[in-house]
Amino acid sequence: MQENICKRCFLLNCGREDTYKNIKEHIDRLSPNERCNGEEYGKRLDICAGCEHLSGGVCLKCGCYPEFRAAFAKQKCPYKKW
Ligand code: SF4
Repeated sequence: MQENICKRCFLLNCGREDTYKNIKEHIDRLSPNERCNGEEYGKRLDICAGCEHLSGGVCLKCGCYPEFRAAFAKQKCPYKKW
């Protein structure tokens, strides 16, 4: 387990590059219909970045990786923040 994990960071910013690479490969395989557009994706992640439930790249409220969940057009924040 990596020490000094930033509680308000995403996978890439907290030393979890391997996990990020894995989910990025899944994101890249989503069809255009499944995938959230880039602008909306950025807005969603900005909200997660300021959320008190983000810790070490994981949403503590639903257990997801926000970078992955937010990539799906039809997904929603479990707390309706986006
Ligand atoms: S998905 Fe929702 S509850 Fe989870 S970190 Fe993002 S904004 Fe917070």
